[in-house]
Amino acid sequence: MSRPTLIAALLLASAACAGGISAQTSKPAQAPAIAAGNPAPHATALPTSVQQGALVIGSTHPAAVVEYGGRTLRVSPSGRFGFGIGRDASGTAVVKVKPPGTPAIEHRIVVAPRDWPIENINGVPPSTVNPPPAIAARIAREQAQVVAVRARDDAREDYAQRFVWPVQGRISGRFGNQRVYNGTPKAPHSGMDIAAANGTPVKAPAAGIVTFASPSLYLTGGTVVIDHGAGISSNFLHLSRIDAKVGDRVEQGQVFAAVGATGRATGPHLHWGMNWFDVRIDPLLVLDLAQ
Ligand SMILES: [Zn+2]
Repeated sequence: MSRPTLIAALLLASAACAGGISAQTSKPAQAPAIAAGNPAPHATALPTSVQQGALVIGSTHPAAVVEYGGRTLRVSPSGRFGFGIGRDASGTAVVKVKPPGTPAIEHRIVVAPRDWPIENINGVPPSTVNPPPAIAARIAREQAQVVAVRARDDAREDYAQRFVWPVQGRISGRFGNQRVYNGTPKAPHSGMDIAAANGTPVKAPAAGIVTFASPSLYLTGGTVVIDHGAGISSNFLHLSRIDAKVGDRVEQGQVFAAVGATGRATGPHLHWGMNWFDVRIDPLLVLDLAQ
């Protein structure tokens, strides 16, 4: 699917709507207020197709029960809800929506597959690729802490803001690429890397609550998680400096850290990852959604 078509599908939601939008006029003035202009304020609006790794924002009746991926989603007082499509999702994503007093309807979203190139990264310290048992235990402990904060399901709708770039720079690593470190295949790249000089201020791409902050995790170095509500969070890795602490609210554009090369990194860059609970999503698609 082309990018304009994707944006139209994501933002303009219903099939009837998205189908009538040309590529030239597919970027609405406001995003992601999906229901804007919809004559039926409580009609369910969802895209008809998305890419693997997408953030999906839909709207429906505020009292509707919405289910996806084995979860009952938090629906805001304005009827908004959000969820992520996994990197390895395929086929059709089914979202079950039950407005009050009416039968449940299953909304089907086609998941468009993407290419996942192999990326070779050489020159990282061998102990970060095949860590000795004591280090492996530390890594597992640290990852468990980060996993735990991603389980939050706050009522805030900070995720509905138009996301902005946390730093400006060249994309030096894309989400989802199959990574091979020093010749050893590892997990796919969980976020997007933006090349920037050591010490470059990092801004919150959207508002949220800082739910994790540590200066020195083994693999990810200086690490911050910002929770945007409804299970949607951002993580920022390899930071050289952290200016925020757990519990702080940061507004969009607020500087909360600085770029570094701490942890398993070959040079200074910002790794920005996003999650819907434990599902990793592609920040680049979220930025596209905001355009
Ligand atoms: Zn990265």
